[in-house]
Amino acid sequence: MRLVVLGGGESGVGTAILGKKKGYDVFVSDFGKIKENYKEVLIINGIAWEEETHTEVLILNADVVMKSPGIPEKSPIVKKLVEKGIPVISEIEFAAPFTKAITIGITGSNGKTTTTMLTYHLLKSAGLNVGLGGNIGKSFAWQVADDKYDSYVLELSSFQLDGIKEYKPHIAIITNISPDHLDRYDYKYENYIASKFRITMNQTEDDFLIYDADDEAIAEWFKHNKTKAQLIPFSLEKTFKKGAFIKDKNMEVNIINEEEFTMETEAMALEGKHNMKNAMAATSVAKLMKIRNATIRESLSNFQGVEHRLEKVLKIQNVQYINDSKATNVNATFFALDSMNTPTVWIVGGVDKGNDYNELMSLVREKVKAIICLGVDNKKIIDVFGNVVDIMIEVNNMEDAVKMAQRLTEKGDAVLLSPACASFDLFENYEDRGNQFKQAVKNL
Ligand code: ADP
Repeated sequence: MRLVVLGGGESGVGTAILGKKKGYDVFVSDFGKIKENYKEVLIINGIAWEEETHTEVLILNADVVMKSPGIPEKSPIVKKLVEKGIPVISEIEFAAPFTKAITIGITGSNGKTTTTMLTYHLLKSAGLNVGLGGNIGKSFAWQVADDKYDSYVLELSSFQLDGIKEYKPHIAIITNISPDHLDRYDYKYENYIASKFRITMNQTEDDFLIYDADDEAIAEWFKHNKTKAQLIPFSLEKTFKKGAFIKDKNMEVNIINEEEFTMETEAMALEGKHNMKNAMAATSVAKLMKIRNATIRESLSNFQGVEHRLEKVLKIQNVQYINDSKATNVNATFFALDSMNTPTVWIVGGVDKGNDYNELMSLVREKVKAIICLGVDNKKIIDVFGNVVDIMIEVNNMEDAVKMAQRLTEKGDAVLLSPACASFDLFENYEDRGNQFKQAVKNL
């Protein structure tokens, strides 16, 4: 069997290693450059590869093709493969049949990484032999090649899910759905929603789907579609017989046949309403995996969150600086502003993704004392909030943004970087943007 791997990054190289180990004739092709350390791995393992080109004769003779998630379905080489009827699948689809481990698959528009890391933390702290993969860290396929774990927590983007045919997670989470990446879905929101729900399409009565019951797009999907999986909803507004919810400042998780879980939300290390949702989803998994309540409680009280997501950087002269650089859309920024409880200087802007800032209007009125615009697309921000806040300033780099923010604050205030935009105008990526923010804060 000939396996062709498109893309020589983490998931491509991982798939190549697994394929080789399972006896496939493997070829890796990357239209860009392959990193040196990955090349070394390919060479050591005797795997053929090419970079900066796709040689069609070497690709179109594949029996199966693994497409890395970054490569669009519409790229010419993928179109040719599809025309020839060659199956094009994702890393998860390729790797899952080679392990007996159960997988917990986590998707959604926002909160995937936080929920994945928290779920992993809950299971690992309880002593389970659990791996972490998908869009985070080491590739799933690579770990399956080493075959060390009994279960995996996987962050799954819609692109990973587009390439599944038979894969099913034993436990699936859909954190929430709001418009994102529509350029890859013919600008049709329903296509993007359908792609997220692929996570449950192969699930059976023995599997579970945990989902946000407050989410409009999810509710709409359930009106017209069904899944065989057992449903576990979570909500900030409703309560359930079976599900997770907030009642009298406590988070409660009821999974039938398991002891009920209750914990004061105040006692959790994570803050903000969105993080209560993430915690409800992760705790539901922990209960399904039969982890003891005391262990879950301890883990929820010490999980500090993930870098660049509402990350508390430093307090200087009693002003708290918060890095939420990963907020690359309006919905993520909504929850960041919502979680602020002191007057806030808000650093916002970058590459606009068709943002509707009006959704933030009442939060900005209530919480924001000044806006600092940092990015190429400031016009919309100024148009929407120009008359709402007293101070609105444009700057050209992070250093100036942070210095200006310091000048505008007084004791007890906060400075929040939550851009609601992509970062590619001034930064390499959101990590670079967050790191520059943190450095600038330290320089103060
Ligand atoms: P993803 O992996 O889906 O991009 P992250 O956990 O990296 O999600 O969080 C991305 C951004 O969204 C951060 O700014 C974070 O504070 C915010 N966020 C986290 N969880 C949620 C949620 N449940 N709903 C909305 N926004 C969220």
